[in-house]
Amino acid sequence: MLNLVLFGPPGAGKGTQAEYLIESFGLNHISTGDLLRSEIAGKTDLGLEAKKFMDKGELVPDAVVIGMIKSKLDSNKDAKGFIFDGFPRTVDQAKALDELLNNNGTPVSGMLSLEVEKQELIDRLMLRGKSSGRADDQDQSIIENRINVYNEKTLPLIEYYRPQNKHFGINGMGSIEDIAGRLKAVVSKL
Ligand code: ADP
Repeated sequence: MLNLVLFGPPGAGKGTQAEYLIESFGLNHISTGDLLRSEIAGKTDLGLEAKKFMDKGELVPDAVVIGMIKSKLDSNKDAKGFIFDGFPRTVDQAKALDELLNNNGTPVSGMLSLEVEKQELIDRLMLRGKSSGRADDQDQSIIENRINVYNEKTLPLIEYYRPQNKHFGINGMGSIEDIAGRLKAVVSKL
């Protein structure tokens, strides 16, 4: 079983690259951002609660996202492996993921960390905001807050995975195909 954590700041291209990895390695894609947006679209209690945080560019509380991941893992017991996209985003989420995966028998295989310059992130997100309609991609101050939250709460995860030899930094600048090629080369060796 191959369990990949696709990591990087907002706008790094995690969702785009996840599509390539799914095709190449036949994995199940779990994006907490997508799961949360579908809860919002369904106007569930969870979605309404999560929206308050997402609209400000803050993280949704750990318990909420960990609960969503648990139910996804429980309902996909026969999967060949997973790509976690946008999760974990805090050290507590990473610890919870380890516990859940250990119960299922297979740990995280690797953390693929897409590295992109800050101005490029802002440009990509503003561009995405024009077509996706995502409110959190249309306001520069919300985007900057998400990048700050990433630096403060999510970046420390590198130091969680590095001592386990699971951290792989990948240049996330350039064409989509080039970046996909770099990712594939790393994943093939896991
Ligand atoms: P991006 O990577 O561009 O920020 P996502 O779709 O991954 O886009 O996330 C959008 C928003 O959803 C985040 O800003 C955050 O509010 C919320 N979110 C997504 N995943 C998590 C998570 N693992 N923990 C907490 N909040 C999350």
